[in-house]
Amino acid sequence: MVYLTGAGPGDIELLTIKALRVVHEADVIIYDRLANPDILKEAKDGCEFVYVGKEDSHHSMPQEQINETIYQNALKYENVVRLKGGDPLVFGRGGEEGIYLHQRGIEFEFIPGITSAIAVPQYAGIPVTHRGITVSFRVVTGHESKNKKESQIPWDNYKTDDTIIFLMGLHRLKHISKKLIEIGKPKDYPVAVISRGTTVDEKTVVGTLENIWEMAKDLPTPALIVVGEVVNLRKELEWFRKKAYKYQSS
Ligand code: SAH
Repeated sequence: MVYLTGAGPGDIELLTIKALRVVHEADVIIYDRLANPDILKEAKDGCEFVYVGKEDSHHSMPQEQINETIYQNALKYENVVRLKGGDPLVFGRGGEEGIYLHQRGIEFEFIPGITSAIAVPQYAGIPVTHRGITVSFRVVTGHESKNKKESQIPWDNYKTDDTIIFLMGLHRLKHISKKLIEIGKPKDYPVAVISRGTTVDEKTVVGTLENIWEMAKDLPTPALIVVGEVVNLRKELEWFRKKAYKYQSS
């Protein structure tokens, strides 16, 4: 059995009970750069670990090879855990891994994880929806294939006041801001960039479409971008940074 498992966004306590159970039972854990490595300490003695780390945009192991690694381990072991940052199906390519296994007659289960798209803004004091401010939110990839001439992001769809959360977009922040101004958003529209969210290393920078790329350019990855009026609520809702020292000392 292969468990395509979400590891949550960083804070180890955001792992689900179900994910923790399969980690306890695993014979092998195939894990990403984004999964908190402390989770591996929960594995039983003799459990094997396979790192298939990915950088944000440049994959250190091509997806096809990751699929094959999972498959080969499934032939060898009874309990295979594929541990992925956040949720396995939110830009996690878990669907591709599931299809690869299905086509080879291997049984699998998905175990949802708390996605960084919602939890990282939340730890930074930014709700993705808020009554009276916005009635919906979108989660978008900021990483577009360089080989394609045309943009894959339908920018015209973003004229609404939906909160927009860009994953994998830090290196494209200037381009993203420029595009949003081009489709008519005000230059002083609020934007936050949150780096290493839900961990003690969290750093948040708040600015506007006009200046955020300059302000956030040195932030370490992983980082996500939140665009929308909800960013202003951080003034009152910021909570985690104030407590982070507690997490650090525990
Ligand atoms: N499946 C994952 C997302 C994978 S895409 C999920 O559901 O969370 C990887 C992107 O997620 C990163 O480029 C970054 O934009 C975002 N990300 C993941 N963990 C993060 C964290 N702790 N802080 C900020 N952004 C994070």
